[in-house]
Amino acid sequence: MPDDHTPQSWEARANAYSLYGFTDLPTIKDRGAVVLTHGEGPYVFDVHGRKYLDANSGLWNMVAGFDHPGLAEAAKAQYDRFPGYHAFFGRMADKTVELSERLIEVSPFERGKVFYTNSGSEANDTLVKMLWFLGHVEGQPQRRKILTRKNAYHGVTAVSASMTGKPYNSVFGLPLDGFLHLTCPHYWCEGHDGETEEQFTARLAQELEDTIAREGADTIAAFVAEPVMGAGGVIPPSEGYFQAIQPILKRHGIPLVSDEVICGFGRTGGLWGCDTYGFTPDAIISSKNLTAGYFPMGAVILGPELTDRLQAASEAVEEFPHGFTASGHPVGSAVALKAIELIVDGGLIDRVREMTPKLEQGLRDLAAKHPNIGETRGVGFMWALEAVQDATTKAPFPPELSISEQIANACTDRGLICRPLGQAIVLCPPFILTDDQLDELLAKLDDALEAVFAAVA
Ligand SMILES: *Cc1c(COP(=O)(O)O)cnc(C)c1O
Repeated sequence: MPDDHTPQSWEARANAYSLYGFTDLPTIKDRGAVVLTHGEGPYVFDVHGRKYLDANSGLWNMVAGFDHPGLAEAAKAQYDRFPGYHAFFGRMADKTVELSERLIEVSPFERGKVFYTNSGSEANDTLVKMLWFLGHVEGQPQRRKILTRKNAYHGVTAVSASMTGKPYNSVFGLPLDGFLHLTCPHYWCEGHDGETEEQFTARLAQELEDTIAREGADTIAAFVAEPVMGAGGVIPPSEGYFQAIQPILKRHGIPLVSDEVICGFGRTGGLWGCDTYGFTPDAIISSKNLTAGYFPMGAVILGPELTDRLQAASEAVEEFPHGFTASGHPVGSAVALKAIELIVDGGLIDRVREMTPKLEQGLRDLAAKHPNIGETRGVGFMWALEAVQDATTKAPFPPELSISEQIANACTDRGLICRPLGQAIVLCPPFILTDDQLDELLAKLDDALEAVFAAVA
């Protein structure tokens, strides 16, 4: 593609003036950027008119696809009526009032309150500030530590990156003090030889118990967890995990917060990931699917107890001194109301439930066909295929092969977008996927796996 690197090309212009987040720069050097113009259903189109089936829903969030008329209309109507406002000084748009009512209605809580942000990272930051504020006002200023897990992804701001359990944050000198990362509940990878899944879960529960004893229960502000780890590589919890850890947290008075930025609103097949895994948290973090990706918005949804405590603490010092200029944006609120309607009442979550067995079976068939797939894991519409050099020993490919990058690039060449994560390939398609589009996804992935594994064999 010689014309892709001339200074006038979109790709060259992208490289000249824009910075990429989380992008493998050697791949960009080799292959150039992909500059997109528009989308139709689950497909996106680049500046050369090439069409890609986006099996990652953008970044997990475009669950209604890329041209849903209802979402665009909801935004337009709200732009015409009242295009922007804040939620400071006791003022708030009517749409924001409606959205909070709706969120509490669909939440697992019998009552609660919502605080809005522009992103998932900010929602996690906001939650941590709420907990630090509670510690300060309630006379427990030492209660500041946050427990999360290795491989967890909670965002990129200084605090949410500290919650994230990924080694790449060491380049920023993160995590900050007081952010502790426990073992990732990935039995296939972290289980010891001869250890059953039940024993593995019990070991992780004991680790939590030991950590609380070592650190002091009254120094720990919260345990925050994704029901299924998303950006860590689609890692469902080991059997009985939340049932094992929640009683320990309860006994020590430590809130359990469910980061539902990916899992929330249908991705796992339940409305919330905590529904799918059978636990009720003390608070929920939401973003991504909240607006089906059509507006940047995040939310902290507090259950009854944290709502009451935050209310009392705020009254004690007269305000909760926190908020973003665009918190509770009326257009975001209108879009979120529409997205929730589409997911809950408009058939999108039903579609996930209906299509999940076919997606799962298709991926399991690919794994059976390609001996270099070591683990197929996931739930609902979030799955990963883990590539291994040797399926019996689980030995990975040498890192310099960048096996998952190669697979993702081979998919891109075939008009399929999927995401490399570690040595896994992640698939989390939009909920609107049709049967034919699923067949296309599986056929293109099969072909890409065939080509890449044959070349490295
Ligand atoms: C994406 C993500 C975040 C961060 O959301 P941003 O909107 O990118 O800041 C937080 N938590 C989880 C589980 C996520 O997947």
